[in-house]
Amino acid sequence: MTADYHLHSSFSGDSETCPETAVRTAFEKGLDLMCFTEHFDPDYPYPDVSMELDVSAYFSEMRRLQNLFGSHPEIRIGAELGIQPHLGTFLQNWLTACEADGFHFDFLIASTHIADRLDPYYPDFWHSRNTRQAVGRFLDITLENIRSFDNFDVYGHLDYIVRYAPEQERFFSYSAHAEQIDAILRLLLDKGKGIEINTGGWKAGLAEPNPCRDVLRRYRELGGEIITMGSDAHTPEYIGYRFEDAKELLRYCGFRYFTVFRERKAEFISL
Ligand SMILES: [Zn+2]
Ligand SMILES: [Zn+2]
Repeated sequence: MTADYHLHSSFSGDSETCPETAVRTAFEKGLDLMCFTEHFDPDYPYPDVSMELDVSAYFSEMRRLQNLFGSHPEIRIGAELGIQPHLGTFLQNWLTACEADGFHFDFLIASTHIADRLDPYYPDFWHSRNTRQAVGRFLDITLENIRSFDNFDVYGHLDYIVRYAPEQERFFSYSAHAEQIDAILRLLLDKGKGIEINTGGWKAGLAEPNPCRDVLRRYRELGGEIITMGSDAHTPEYIGYRFEDAKELLRYCGFRYFTVFRERKAEFISL
């Protein structure tokens, strides 16, 4: 069984993919299950990019597609929430309002996209510090984000920052930041949250997915079991990207199951 649990379409400010085309592509690629996880990044510091989410239009299109496609593939409705340390209460209130309006997500990813009002995607993030300091700061903020917010299922692309670091992973490893990464993983485990294996790292030219193998292994070693698989595709050709490789890597790291969510409840699928 193949289930892509990290997908963007034109409901995300940084994708132009027609959702129906995404579903047709997923079907052609043989996916059994797909969960759209559109961006919602409140207080996004780059005014030229809108990271707002029109929840009502999103749910109405998802429900139309669910009726149209039935279970081939099965479609679930998620979101990727961009967290910043000051947004915990805001996001909780936003989710409460969504539910009051009848919009119940199947699955929520929490992600760090912004640190100190800067996105590592843009070069200005890297100007005033070396890679090791910048990665350290990003991980500190990720820890603060997780402390500040509970209403999510998995934390997205834990070492996302490496995708955009100068020379990418050359200056990054689990061991270089073991203390911080362990603190993040332990806090997620304490809160009953999972992580994802995000194959967008491979797409971005890294030798490994996000997070990298050693972080996946460490999570498993600490007792982590909840792990979703996501391509982070913003265009149809990357849906389900390198999932066979990802499954093999998960097995290598000691996982026997990956996770899918329905109505925010975890289900475990054999690898
Ligand atoms: Zn993301
Ligand atoms: Zn994403």
